[in-house]
Amino acid sequence: MSGSDTNRAEITHLTDAEQVSIALGEARIGRSEGGIPIGAALIVDGKVVATGRNRRIQEGSAIHHGETNCLENAGRLPASVYARATMVTTLSPCDMCTGAILLYKIPRVVIGENANFYGGEDYLRQRGVEVVVVDDAECRQLMAEFITAEPALWNEDIGV
Ligand SMILES: [Zn+2]
Repeated sequence: MSGSDTNRAEITHLTDAEQVSIALGEARIGRSEGGIPIGAALIVDGKVVATGRNRRIQEGSAIHHGETNCLENAGRLPASVYARATMVTTLSPCDMCTGAILLYKIPRVVIGENANFYGGEDYLRQRGVEVVVVDDAECRQLMAEFITAEPALWNEDIGV
């Protein structure tokens, strides 16, 4: 896309916390758009291949969660690339996103927080995926604020 993506591609050796902060930036953009504030990033060989955010409200979409939107933004990738990838997400992944991670055999998932929602982490681990929970206070706060402000939108997002 733009020059900022070129710059991102030059960044290497991001820590898990730095990766989460990239996803958090996407989540904040989503909130500013009136959307559900969940962001994601796909990291391969230490570089950001794509970012994404939940765009269900913005696009009237049933499937554009943070992680699935990120995978869509990354486009078609060979299995050998997914095999080296880390999916970073601000919130514990739901069943749909857990399934997408498993489908493409992404071996590592970094999660900003799982206090507001506990998704498919146990199943990911059971299937051999490395799951790291950073427990980021800003991710927790952003999501908690949204759930309090927009409970109906949040319940819709998780199928309640
Ligand atoms: Zn999801």
